[in-house]
This record gives sequence, C-alpha cells and structure tokens, in this order.
Amino acid sequence: MTSTHTVTGRDIDFDVVVIGGGPAGSTAASYLAKAGLSVAVFESEVFPREHVGESLVPATTPVLLEIGAMDKIEAAGFPRKYGAAWTAANEGGIDPLGFRVSEHGFGTADVLFGERPQPGVDREYTFHVDRGRFDLILLKHAESLGAKVFSGVRVGGVDFTEQDRPVVEVGMGPARTTVRARMVVDASGRSTLLARQLKVKVPDPDFNQYAVHTWFEGLDRTALTDSDHQADYIFVHFLPLEDTWVWQIPISDTVTSVGVVTQKSRFKEAKDDLEGFFWNSVASRPLLLEALKRTKRLRPFKAEGDYSYGMRKVADDSMLLVGDAARFVDPIFSSGVSVAMNSARLACTDIIAAAETGDFRAHRFDTYVGKLRRGVSNWYEFISIYYRLNILFTAFVQDPRYRLDVLKLLQGDVYDDEEPKALVAMREFLAAVENDPTHLWHDKLGNLRVSQESKCLF
Ligand SMILES: Cc1cc2nc3c(=O)[nH]c(=O)nc-3n(C[C@H](O)[C@H](O)[C@H](O)COP(=O)(O)OP(=O)(O)OC[C@H]3O[C@@H](n4cnc5c(N)ncnc54)[C@H](O)[C@@H]3O)c2cc1C
Repeated sequence: MTSTHTVTGRDIDFDVVVIGGGPAGSTAASYLAKAGLSVAVFESEVFPREHVGESLVPATTPVLLEIGAMDKIEAAGFPRKYGAAWTAANEGGIDPLGFRVSEHGFGTADVLFGERPQPGVDREYTFHVDRGRFDLILLKHAESLGAKVFSGVRVGGVDFTEQDRPVVEVGMGPARTTVRARMVVDASGRSTLLARQLKVKVPDPDFNQYAVHTWFEGLDRTALTDSDHQADYIFVHFLPLEDTWVWQIPISDTVTSVGVVTQKSRFKEAKDDLEGFFWNSVASRPLLLEALKRTKRLRPFKAEGDYSYGMRKVADDSMLLVGDAARFVDPIFSSGVSVAMNSARLACTDIIAAAETGDFRAHRFDTYVGKLRRGVSNWYEFISIYYRLNILFTAFVQDPRYRLDVLKLLQGDVYDDEEPKALVAMREFLAAVENDPTHLWHDKLGNLRVSQESKCLF
C-alpha cells in the first residue's frame, strides 16, 4: 500500500477501509475524505457494472449536495423523477376504494414530490439512474476528494484480533495482501461480508420476495398513464396476484427498466424459468403486456432473491455496517439507495467524531445506530402495512388528511421523527380493519403479517 500513517506509535495504512464502492461505500468515502481522513475503498468489480435499484427518492438530494456530487449527477442527464404513480390490478373491473378511476377505466393514484417541501431538498425532482453510470460517478467523486479507490480488489475478511487495529485481507486474482486500518466500514451490499463473517445476519422472518427484471427499448410509457406528464414517473403496476407488482422505471428517453416482484414461493412454482415467469405474470395486466410486446428487450432477464434480512448488530469496536450490508427489506418504495447514502452520512458523523478522539470503540457509534434503527424501522413498518393492506396505502395517498404525511415517507424523509404521523394513522386503521370481520376492507387483508422477531432486527 502506498501510504503509511503512524497513530499513537502504531503503523496503519489508512484511517478507514471501506469495503465496496456502491452508493453506500462511495458516499462514506466522500464524507471521510472531505473530513481529511485517509480512506481506501476496495471494490471487487471494475465499474461500470450493472446493478438493480434504479429509481431514487428525494432524500438522496441533501447527501449529493453535501458531498458536492450533485452537479456531476445533473450533468449526466439522468431522467428527472418528479413523481410516482400506482395502477390497480384489475384493468376491467376497477375497485373504486382507494383509487381514482383513470381514463383507461382502471384505478390509479399518484404523487408529486414537489407537493411537500423537504428539509435540505432544493428541487422538485430526483432521478432515475442507470446504476452502472451513477455508481461510477459517485466512486470517481470519492476519488476526486482524496479517497484511494482500488477496483477489481476483493476483501476476503477482516481480522479483529487487535480491537483497535483491524487487519483487512484483500486480493486481486491470486495475489493476496493485508491492509491495516483504524476502522472498517462494510458497504459490501447484499454480500454482507462482515455480517456473515461475524454471524450476525438473520434472514427476515416475514419477507421473502423475489424479482425478475430487464431493460426494454421503446416501451410506450404513457400506455397506462393518465397524461403525458406522468411518463417519467416511476410506475408501480399492481398485478391481480397476492403481493405481486411490476416496476416501470425510465432509464433514458427510450430505455425502460421493468421488473416483476413476487413471493418467492410463486416464483419457485415457475421452476426457475425467468422468462416464462416474467411474461406469465405480466399477462395478468393486458394493457401492460400489449405495450411490452411492442418493445425490444435489451438485456437477459435477471433474478434477485433472498434480499430480505436484518442484523443482530450493525456496529462494534472499529467497525460498522452501512447500506445493504446493514439491512434490506423490499424494493416497493425505492428506498435502497437513499438508505445506503443516508446511512453512510449518519455513520460518518460518528466516525469523524471518533477520529478526533482516536477512540473507535463501539459506543462511539451509538448515535448512528439509534438513527439508523429509527429510519429502518419506519421503512419496515411502512412496507409491512403496504403488503398487509394494499388498499390502505392508496386510500391514504389520496386522502387530503394524510397525503402529505404519506408523501413524507415516500420522499425518504424518515430519520428525524420518532413516529411519522402517517404511520401512526395507518397502524390504527389497520388494527381496526383486522379486528372487525365485518369491515368493508377485511377481506382485502393480505397474508403477510409482521412478527415480533422481525421488529428486534435491524
Ligand atoms: C429487486 C430490487 C429492486 C430494487 N429497486 C430499487 C429502486 O428502485 N431504488 C432504490 O433506491 N433501491 C432499489 N433497490 C435496492 C438497491 O439496489 C440497494 O439498496 C442499493 O444498491 C444499496 O447500495 P449499497 O452501496 O449498500 O450496495 P451495492 O450497491 O450493492 O454496492 C456494494 C458493492 O460492494 C461490492 N462488494 C461486495 N462484496 C465485496 C467484497 N468482498 N470486496 C469488495 N467489494 C465488494 C460490490 O461489487 C458492490 O459494488 C432494489 C433492490 C432489489 C433487490
């Protein structure tokens, strides 16, 4: 390694080693390098590389502004995302509860992010991104701030025998070496390197969804919309199958990402036939199927599974976990990249303060742990209520009494409030529906119920 620093008389190579150069890793590296710490990022891939997770929420904006990357993201020309829309499962017989009836004759609901001012957010849109390009821009940005980026270098594990000087084992092809740091940030995404090594990873007891996705050229994105101005929204099209929906995300003027999300058991029935499963699912929405038939597929179908998990802990002496390496539940509200970047932001506040004292013991990260717990549990409950009683979400989005509070969640503004108002109201409403078999919505309850066990996890 190129640089060697001496801290309290002991040699180290870097103040902080970051494992993984996705949005969580590059954001952490940017904050730390900006604060004058020496940082190395080890990324096993060579960017650009494909990655799922293409639709952002506005809570990414304050982070992009703070690390100084917003101008580069604007200059990249990613499609601007002004809002989000949902369409009801039954194209023929609409269910007026919860949805407004669209001109196509089925239910629809939408939000504009600009309807609610959000602290630290200075524009009415966020972005849909080709993650190959987006992640590369952020990683290069971290490098421009002084982080040392090692691409194509995989971290094999970390030796924490000496608590205040973790030793990181890195490899490139057959070559192996070790790197000493004061602190390790695991941003390895769903590989969850440290959580697996430390045996703190737990599969989510309740969620077990699966996704099959690809890119299409030439999809008419207005095929299921009310008006042309919605064409660049993210669309979530519900399918008439339990817990199953389709995302429609603009990647460029002509390219659209489309993915089916379903219960893993349903996918298993398809016997791993990705393509057959995708088309069979989409066929339950005839208008969508027709629109997709007129396109050209650009990439092979790809599957994502086993992505719902939590941790028994996310920080310890000289180490913490950020982004997907800390927790992931479900993609329904496009929260992943926002959680990745905001968890890195929150973690770095504690790491920078710890560096000032030279004490990187676990208790230095308590603020991070508390704020992450709050944000993640807000997301978790929102997602759970959504799957338990779909119609409640669409009804609340369109009810003037709750709309802005729900929008706050959809914007990703979840880290400050102890208890977002929309969640309190939705929880109470859900309990009333569950406890009253005669309630109009009782037969619309889904099977997914959140257990106590999942609430104890990160
Ligand atoms: C089906 C699905 C749909 C989704 N849709 C959305 C969406 O629309 N919007 C959204 O915001 N989020 C979405 N997400 C979530 C989003 O993909 C993730 O939350 C986000 O990518 C997390 O960023 P990260 O930096 O934590 O991890 P990643 O982006 O996965 O980055 C981790 C990096 O670590 C590297 N790495 C792994 N192991 C090692 C190692 N041992 N050594 C070195 N490097 C390593 C990897 O190569 C990778 O580049 C979706 C997720 C799924 C499963």
